[in-house]
Amino acid sequence: MSDFKVCKNCDFEWHLLDGSDCPVCTADDPVPIKTGGVFGTGKHALAWAIFFKALGLILLVYIIWAFMLSG
Ligand SMILES: [Zn+2]
Repeated sequence: MSDFKVCKNCDFEWHLLDGSDCPVCTADDPVPIKTGGVFGTGKHALAWAIFFKALGLILLVYIIWAFMLSG
């Protein structure tokens, strides 16, 4: 049966349904933690992008309003 895989690095055996990569080696890998950090930063960046978008829109409306008053 080829439903089981054996890791070349740590000889851990797991079922293919649990994933194509070794769960032990991927757990020890710092990449998932790094991805989580990037995801967290991404969420913050998105919030800041929305904030600056709203700020820019308010400024634009204010500039148009000021221009209309002066003209
Ligand atoms: Zn492994």
